[in-house]
Amino acid sequence: MYIAGIDSGSTSTDAIIIDENANIIGRSIVATGIGATQSADKALQIALEDAHLSKDQLTNVVTTGYGRENIGKNTDSVTEITCHAKGAHYLHPETKTIIDIGGQDSKVIRIDEQGNVENFVMNDKCAAGTGRFLDAQARALNMSLEELSKTGLNWKNDITISSMCTMFAESEVISLVADNVAISDIIHGLNKSVASKTASLVHRIKGEPEFIMTGGVAQNAGVVQCLEQALNAKIYVDDSAQLCGAIGAALIGLEEI
Ligand code: ADP
Repeated sequence: MYIAGIDSGSTSTDAIIIDENANIIGRSIVATGIGATQSADKALQIALEDAHLSKDQLTNVVTTGYGRENIGKNTDSVTEITCHAKGAHYLHPETKTIIDIGGQDSKVIRIDEQGNVENFVMNDKCAAGTGRFLDAQARALNMSLEELSKTGLNWKNDITISSMCTMFAESEVISLVADNVAISDIIHGLNKSVASKTASLVHRIKGEPEFIMTGGVAQNAGVVQCLEQALNAKIYVDDSAQLCGAIGAALIGLEEI
């Protein structure tokens, strides 16, 4: 028996295939650029190839995320919050608080010992504090996200970016570059800005350890480091952090059978 979970995000579409023992046997991450339906088909196809399976071998498919209602007629759809909770509990069973920073929003979710949602808070009103903020600054600095992540760890002088807004922060970054401020220090300032916004969300919901970080921004080690400092706690990051929602969707698909 094989089950697929698909997370249709604003930036990436992720797919996971699990077997009846909840082992992950296939995975994929594709850019959502071409549209929710096509990206979901593509992500599922790549995950099936990864698992050496064909579509007709799937017993169930569950979708989640921003574009979930636009994917296939015969699939069940579940909210991102529920899926992230299930996925995070699977990746790190001690998790009490999930910090999810994606391309377009950020959320903090408190879960119980079984991986059920207790409470959550979300920022989907403003790009600041999300992946989009960092993507804009990476473009302003002419860097890839991988370079941004790596360079931000080598900071020496603790500077603060005062602009809250993504556009104004971009202008501030350009001025700092013109003033010969070290790029690593500028990136550290940007990472602190994302961390401080996220820490406010965590405090609003009285989040407590153990923390797990999910979503694409979990791959940015500089942001994770600044957030650990802001929360004064260790944050668990899994290699499959970006796939957490898709993992949760697949697990729910398994429970449904
Ligand atoms: P969504 O669920 O909204 O589609 P994701 O969880 O895929 O979003 O997160 C997308 C964000 O993750 C991007 O905006 C980017 O900032 C960040 N990201 C993606 N890949 C990397 C990487 N290799 N290094 C650092 N950050 C990354």
